[in-house]
Amino acid sequence: MTNALLADWDTPLQLPPFAAIADDDFAPALETALIEHKAEIAAIAENPAAPSFENTVLALEGAGSALDKVLSTFFSVAGADTNPKRQELQRDFSPKLAEHFAGIYADTALFARIEALWEQRDALHLDGEEARLLMLTRRGFVRAGAALTGADAERMRAIKSRLSVLGTAFTQNLLADEAGWQMELAEADLEGLPDWLKASARAAGEERGAAGPVITLSRSLITPFLQFSPRRDLRELAWRAWVARGANGGETDNREIAAEVLALREERAKLLGYETFAAYKLETEMAGAPDKVRDLLHAVWTPARARAEEDAAKLAERMAADGVNGPLQPWDWHYYSEARRREEHDLDETALKPYLQLDRMIEAAMDCAHRLFGLEFKPLDVPLYHPDCRAWEVTRNGTHCAVFVGDYFARASKRSGAWCSAMRMQAKKPDPKAPIVVNVCNFAKPSQGAPALLSYDDARTLFHEFGHALHQMLSDVTFGSMAGTSVARDFVELPSQLYEHWLEVPEVLRNFATHAETGEAMPQAMLDKVLEAATYDAGFQTVEYVASALVDLEFHDGPPPADPMARQAEILDSIGMPDAIAMRHATPHFAHVFAGDGYSSGYYSYMWSEVMDADAFAAFEEAGGAFDPAMADKLERFILSKGGSAEADELYIAFRGKMPEVDALLKGRGLAA
Ligand SMILES: [Zn+2]
Repeated sequence: MTNALLADWDTPLQLPPFAAIADDDFAPALETALIEHKAEIAAIAENPAAPSFENTVLALEGAGSALDKVLSTFFSVAGADTNPKRQELQRDFSPKLAEHFAGIYADTALFARIEALWEQRDALHLDGEEARLLMLTRRGFVRAGAALTGADAERMRAIKSRLSVLGTAFTQNLLADEAGWQMELAEADLEGLPDWLKASARAAGEERGAAGPVITLSRSLITPFLQFSPRRDLRELAWRAWVARGANGGETDNREIAAEVLALREERAKLLGYETFAAYKLETEMAGAPDKVRDLLHAVWTPARARAEEDAAKLAERMAADGVNGPLQPWDWHYYSEARRREEHDLDETALKPYLQLDRMIEAAMDCAHRLFGLEFKPLDVPLYHPDCRAWEVTRNGTHCAVFVGDYFARASKRSGAWCSAMRMQAKKPDPKAPIVVNVCNFAKPSQGAPALLSYDDARTLFHEFGHALHQMLSDVTFGSMAGTSVARDFVELPSQLYEHWLEVPEVLRNFATHAETGEAMPQAMLDKVLEAATYDAGFQTVEYVASALVDLEFHDGPPPADPMARQAEILDSIGMPDAIAMRHATPHFAHVFAGDGYSSGYYSYMWSEVMDADAFAAFEEAGGAFDPAMADKLERFILSKGGSAEADELYIAFRGKMPEVDALLKGRGLAA
């Protein structure tokens, strides 16, 4: 019998035939697909004909279609509906895939053909997207070290392999430190905590076999403990343990690992001909260069710090009124800030929830997409990987655009968080493909018959992920490798964060935030409170984030520090870090930066995208409102349809007429003067 993963899919809209796929099919299908891809690559590399765009770059783009089918199907189920077998497969697949792709980048015959085309690029008469595909293909090879030879190539391989060992060790040390600490509490120590937190502390105690309730370093326990515990001594203990993760001495200490990682990254960048690692890393980002990032972070830092200092003074007054002498400390901030929040922005989550029904929020997201872009969504009855998944066919003027899958409920087999992935990316060449896009969330599943209700944060998440989905569904590029969300890391959150703004449009909430029982629209007073609460404590949040982003940037933009902790202290000192606030992620537990390469000198990117989404939504408001048709058309034409087929700054300028300024972000965070 043929493996269902490798057969031609004659399912409706060519969805993966989930019902016919068994877990035992994945490993053999991957083996076959890898062999097939290798053979395709070898045929390109060894082609006796002189290299041409078609026989090399386009052929590479089209190679691996079986591998794409196997991996996109596997990773859909591995992330959203895993089981022990799928976890085991995932562990087996990851080194195999790393080796497979490293092998392609190390293929000197293949690289020679790409390089030959690059040399004669001006004589090839390529159109814009073809020229870009050639540039991106070559750049991928060069950045992976394909142009290095001899001892340099050898050294690059050694650095990469050492960095991957260090990244894994960093993560495992952190997990060990987090698992190894707990604070046992007597019943009297629970005083002042909300009932649900007491229950969680007792449950954690039982789980760890302790005599009574415990606070662990799990974020869901320690953060509320710092917010609610009136016991300053216990808060200090807990806070000190939290910030000491990865810096406790002994075998799990991450400080030397951080120093070695920084040194190796610098060496890697120098081997490739870059001044610094940040220069190497930012080359492919919208920011482009370290100075651009530095300018943004400092522009936000100054007003954020001023706000945080004002807030610190208010919190210190509350503390003094509590009879505590001395300066406000980091273990005091959450506690006094929570007390102030309750007083100033009392928002009753329980009263809010019935207004935010999942089904109505899905309708709202789709209705906005209809009004902005003319998309229509029709429910599809097709077998998917889990009975909770729902699918819609997306059309415009009767023409098929995409399939949208929503997998909204939490379950034990799903990893935490929310994400958007594509089971198939849009492409026109070599083979035309319509996208299949999945939004995965972790909303609480209601009991049988009851409507699913969301928190306001959940509703924002739904719109956020739907914004990523629109980037995929409206993609209209020639080559799949630059479709949809295949863009720079500091640009990819623009469509998603931008779409969140439509949830805040009063008429959207008036139409769709209706009470589950009475059908009434959300009262204006409640809506105002929801929106205000979103910017509460923005000074603190911005300061802890920007401090981390600046340390990340400076670490990678100069000689690597022999003692990262001393360098971190120096950087914080130079920006005047407020005493009562700590970095959101200090070096020994800054997993974004040290567990892998993803966000190294890239932690700034969340804020970079926020500058753009605030500025982009302001463009709608300036033009005539959230549904201004001319702006919607520009958004689709210059951003949502373009994927990575042009540089992000060109796309943004085409949409907005200029680069974004930081003002709209400061206003959005309530930090504008
Ligand atoms: Zn996102």
